Amino acid sequence: MDRIRVVLVGVEGAINLGIVARLSVNFNVDEFYIVNPKASLSEALEYAARAKNVLKEAIVVDRLENALEGVSLSICTSAISREESVLRIAVPPWEAARIGSMTRGTVALVFGRESVGLTRSELEQCDLLSTIPANPTYPTLNLSTAVSIYLYEFYRRRNARQDQYIDTSAVKLYEAYVSALARALILDEKRRRDVIIAARRIALKGYTSRKEIENLTYLLSRACRRIEGCKVEVAIDNKSGP
Ligand code: SAH
Repeated sequence: MDRIRVVLVGVEGAINLGIVARLSVNFNVDEFYIVNPKASLSEALEYAARAKNVLKEAIVVDRLENALEGVSLSICTSAISREESVLRIAVPPWEAARIGSMTRGTVALVFGRESVGLTRSELEQCDLLSTIPANPTYPTLNLSTAVSIYLYEFYRRRNARQDQYIDTSAVKLYEAYVSALARALILDEKRRRDVIIAARRIALKGYTSRKEIENLTYLLSRACRRIEGCKVEVAIDNKSGP
């Protein structure tokens, strides 16, 4: 992970916004994005202590997709996770930090509104979902408290740094074959989306060796060749092909 980007979506409280700006300095965050804030940025300055510049230089955008431009890995956060729904299967913060540290480029951590969190379509825009394990009868933390736990984990991991990097070109090719097969074989749109999300997350969460993912991609490419209508939609770079 070369850079960490904090993205606050629809932040409502000026105190939270100020504290998150301060945390971003405490834990060496490189980029601070705010999507469609409801809180007053000038009021938040009062709570930012020595991090006023972070707020003044924050990049404010209208939509989450704009805040995710140029990001190699995006991690949405939520108090709610469930094993039954693919979109809601979550990794804990220390696991998110491990995966982040294996990714080259910019890693984005995305936090939701104090009232309703992140919407389903926002969650779908992230590569991974992460949840801080907490009391099941009341797992929702205050926004800035949740941010502090993530930034601490990422800071620790970043300074330990012996992790191997994920080869994103190998993962992209694997994803392209999964998508092509899913488009050719699965008619139900929700099911298809779930399969694609699950395949991407499996690759990002589990894989450490380029050779392993290339072998899986090889199998998928052989299957794709035999199936009518299976069309891969990426420019295939020969160097990263199976
Ligand atoms: N009622 C909202 C609560 C949002 S709390 C909801 O149901 O989603 C505001 C934000 O803090 C969340 O969107 C998330 O980014 C973060 N957050 C709060 N508790 C968390 C937890 N246990 N794990 C991960 N993130 C959490």
